[in-house]
Amino acid sequence: MQQPAKKRASIRGLMELTSRFIETIRAEFPTFRIVPKRGHWPSRAIDLALKAVTLGGQRHYLTHYHTVIGNTLFVPPPWDGMSDLDRVILLRHERVHLRQRRRYGGLLMTALYLLPIFPLGLAYGRARIEWEAYEETLRATAELLGVEAARSPRLRAHIVARFTGPEYGWMWPFERTVQAWYDRTLATLGSPSASPTIE
Ligand SMILES: [Zn+2]
Repeated sequence: MQQPAKKRASIRGLMELTSRFIETIRAEFPTFRIVPKRGHWPSRAIDLALKAVTLGGQRHYLTHYHTVIGNTLFVPPPWDGMSDLDRVILLRHERVHLRQRRRYGGLLMTALYLLPIFPLGLAYGRARIEWEAYEETLRATAELLGVEAARSPRLRAHIVARFTGPEYGWMWPFERTVQAWYDRTLATLGSPSASPTIE
């Protein structure tokens, strides 16, 4: 979306920020919708395929991962228990994927994301696509929860493991490179005193 005036985050109603942010996404992607993964058979098929290619390294696709396919976000059961702010942070990550798909087109996006799966561990296209989205995760975390939250070592370990570990097929197992991307992104975030804001 075009940059609107920034407003202070306030929690007036339950999931109010999430509802507003979904409307913001729909202004850009009118067919955007959120669908539970559970009971969605293509998600079950993807889950089985991922278990097979990662030799069981990715066993949580259905239960822990949010996935954008087309303009639909498929959500696992933990979505229901997420806080309003955490949902907005996640939606900001996923909006990057919606924009990437518009930028590259569905075919190229799928190719960049999926084809370099062999050999596992050298999926540079997927790593760059995800890195762009995780940069937005860090920016959103800094804006909504504060810069200290974005600098949390726990968040860092979690995100770095997504690149170097099996969940995304060891997409970029060079930890030093990922740590350097991380440092560069953190360096662009505001000062610790910056107050949380929302678009
Ligand atoms: Zn992603």
